[in-house]
Amino acid sequence: MARCEVCGNDYDKTFEVVKDRERHTFDSFECAIHALAPACEHCGCRIIGHGIEAEGRYFCCAHCAHESGVAQVRDRR
Ligand SMILES: [Zn+2]
Ligand SMILES: [Zn+2]
Repeated sequence: MARCEVCGNDYDKTFEVVKDRERHTFDSFECAIHALAPACEHCGCRIIGHGIEAEGRYFCCAHCAHESGVAQVRDRR
């Protein structure tokens, strides 16, 4: 039994995610994404796919990167 660190749900099927050597406990992927996924710098949506990292900034897609002035990126195929 463990408690989700995002919503506080006490649940018997929680799981742990280790990120940057820190252990996090969640009851759902939704909560895990809420806590750990980076947000697109342009549109603010959570990046749950590969996304794009350019110059230390995160974007959900090449379009958003372009809109924010990052020229040299392409969506991964
Ligand atoms: Zn939760
Ligand atoms: Zn975006």
